[in-house]
Amino acid sequence: MASAAVVLVGSEMLDPARRDANGPCARAALAEIGIPLAWTARVGDRIEDIKETLETALSLCEIVIVSGGLGPTGDDVTREGAAALLGVGLKEDEAWLGALRARLEERGRKLTELGRRQALVVESAEPIPNGPGLACGSWLKHGERDLILLPGVPPEFRWMMEEHVRPRLKAAYSAQPSVRTVRAVAAGIAEVDAEVVLKPWYGQAGIDVSILPQRGVHRITFTLASPPIPSLAAAEARVREALASGLGDHLISLEGVSLEASVGLRLLEKGWTLATAESCTGGLIGHQVVRVPGASRYFLGGVVAYDNAAKVDLLGVPSRAIEENGAVSREVALAMARGAKARLNASCAVATTGIAGPTGGTPEKPVGTVWVAAATPVSEKAVKLGYPVNRESVMALSANYALFLLLGMLR
Ligand code: ATP
Ligand code: MG
Repeated sequence: MASAAVVLVGSEMLDPARRDANGPCARAALAEIGIPLAWTARVGDRIEDIKETLETALSLCEIVIVSGGLGPTGDDVTREGAAALLGVGLKEDEAWLGALRARLEERGRKLTELGRRQALVVESAEPIPNGPGLACGSWLKHGERDLILLPGVPPEFRWMMEEHVRPRLKAAYSAQPSVRTVRAVAAGIAEVDAEVVLKPWYGQAGIDVSILPQRGVHRITFTLASPPIPSLAAAEARVREALASGLGDHLISLEGVSLEASVGLRLLEKGWTLATAESCTGGLIGHQVVRVPGASRYFLGGVVAYDNAAKVDLLGVPSRAIEENGAVSREVALAMARGAKARLNASCAVATTGIAGPTGGTPEKPVGTVWVAAATPVSEKAVKLGYPVNRESVMALSANYALFLLLGMLR
């Protein structure tokens, strides 16, 4: 069975914190054709390093997709690395050069010497056109193996994957075994506890399990391949059943629907609206909610009430509730949720108030203490969280927990 590798070229991509947009895009396109992604690597902008990395990738996988280093600048040397590996030179692609000139002229610009580099391809390459961008891609053969060079700019990479690479790989590898994926989303549960549910599935033939924890929300992916699995439908049913029973209320979706989108769907079902009242999350919940297209159908707005006076003035939190319990308390969280509901005339609201740190903690309320509250037309709930993590994470985890709390009340 053929497998693929993704190589990210670019010294800036060597920072492990740097998010990769192209690997996931390639992985998804390959999964649709049933080609597993078996290897990935990141390599800096050095011809020799690129050459060696490509050599390794081609020794491991039949298909190697390379992202980045096709631009005009001197640090863009992916072509040189590939040419060195294949033992050939570079050439200018006449057709692409013409297209480049025409496109620049449309914008009233001239092609510079440097810009011309974007029409350079490896001598043996079949050029891959770039709809949204200027750098030409290359489809290369290394024996029977495919080496595909694409630009790093994510919209360009995506376009070329969709328009050219995927259709062509599909035609070439359509005799591949079939693959099914189950994409689950879970929240309100620690990763170790989610792992307990997944553990029995690790190491089974034809089953690949991955868990990606992100700020209290876990994306769990099962990839099932036949062969060796005799019936994909039966295996998929077993996986779904195991996730549903093992994760219980923590299972948000078996279709990859995000936490915030699931909240939106439930609100729409009920014809309810949502408002937010945020202190320590500073608007993060509102931001997450509006990232879902169509959020205007249920999200009315939010109040970021950071200072106590803002909680009182903007949300109508009783001053006494703050004096008697402190701003970080069940009473204040609930009063904030009620206030947001009332002031924005919403059916539901979520609220957060906490100590994100690194300072401001006390022995009774250490850094990471957060009260989240949710209110619907029929119920109210408040939960105390205690995440001993950094400021950013306290905020992100609290925002997601507040949405998780509300979702539970909407179900
Ligand atoms: P350009 O013509 O822009 O130079 P290129 O093919 O040479 O394109 P790079 O120079 O490697 O590509 O990257 C272009 C831009 O895309 C940079 O801002 C880079 O940070 C970003 N980028 C590159 N690879 C990725 C990736 N895998 N995920 C997200 N962003 C990326
Ligand atoms: Mg570049």
